[in-house]
Amino acid sequence: MIDNTPLFIVLPFIIIAFMLGVFLGRRKPEKKPSLHSYTLSSDYFKGLNFLLNEQTDKAIDVFVGMLEVGEETVDTHISLGNLYRQRGEVEQAIKIHQNVIAKPSLSLAKRNDALYELAKDFMNAGLLDRAENLFHELIQKQSNVPSALGYLLSIYQQEHDWEQAILIAKKLESATNEPYSQQVAHFYCELALINHNAGHSQAALKQVKKALGTDKLSVRASILEGEINKKLGNCKAATRAYRRVEQQDPLLISEVLGALLQCYKELNNTKEIKTYLEHVLNKYGGITSILLCAQQIQKTQDDKAAALFIVSTLRKKPSIRGLSSLIDISLDFTKGTAHDNLLILQEITDKLLENKPVYQCTQCGFNGKSMHWQCPSCKSWSSTKPIQGIEGE
Ligand SMILES: [Zn+2]
Repeated sequence: MIDNTPLFIVLPFIIIAFMLGVFLGRRKPEKKPSLHSYTLSSDYFKGLNFLLNEQTDKAIDVFVGMLEVGEETVDTHISLGNLYRQRGEVEQAIKIHQNVIAKPSLSLAKRNDALYELAKDFMNAGLLDRAENLFHELIQKQSNVPSALGYLLSIYQQEHDWEQAILIAKKLESATNEPYSQQVAHFYCELALINHNAGHSQAALKQVKKALGTDKLSVRASILEGEINKKLGNCKAATRAYRRVEQQDPLLISEVLGALLQCYKELNNTKEIKTYLEHVLNKYGGITSILLCAQQIQKTQDDKAAALFIVSTLRKKPSIRGLSSLIDISLDFTKGTAHDNLLILQEITDKLLENKPVYQCTQCGFNGKSMHWQCPSCKSWSSTKPIQGIEGE
């Protein structure tokens, strides 16, 4: 009985078992069944029985033991190991693939195939050091080079070994003719960030320069350059870096507007604050620029003027964040029942915004309230953007 195990889980193993059966059948040219063939056949059904009863450990021992690894059977052994890995039973997969590799009579090509699968088993088991060694061995042997490089790149990213990640990404670019400049720029930014956090500003700026030299559209590098210079008090250099973002990716302009205005404030350049905000507002019209404009009006005029400005923009661009801000400002100059009603509205908009994600990955749809340069779900770089529309930017 298969009990409640879904057929699609057991089926691949039954197919492998069938392949073993067919192969063993072909190996018996004698007219009369010999004792040897009887034993094999008996083992085969014994293994199949274990499989159907979900006793995969015992089944695997029977199947692996009954069939010697050779040129004709090696593919079946490798496939069986792969199936176990796909099922999440990595220990079994390792056992089978190691059993294949242990056979000295195998051809180099087949041994490398098994080595490649074993490296993937180690990766799935989280044994990254062992996987790393095997992928390097395969590259040395010129076997499965692009895939092995791809896995190494994934390992070095998981280990935050950005120097190695840069090296491997460049090799991958040559091996596949596919661009990796965007990723490499992120790796340089990771190194810059480590230096920046350790207080090594000049080293951080050097890495940022390398990032921009690799990918001139690296918004992250511009933002980092702005942050480092802002911290050093080089506000002019910081404004130049922040303003570059508009040319690199206008969708991310909201990420730098606040810091950019702070730099202009440090430089006492109020004229440029007004000019740039109006430019961004007229060209892109995001809610961040609307609210920053409203803040400026609040400072230079009063609450009522700021509220009127938000009302005029909300008619053209409905936004929950805009409505929330309008309520906050209006509460200051409203009294009696109108004030009480606004408090109810404020509670509702706060609750609405509380559960709304701000950013979303354009590759897999993962969303959240924080900006991630690498999507935590699908691991894509530069795929997360601010959500647009009434509930977003
Ligand atoms: Zn994603």
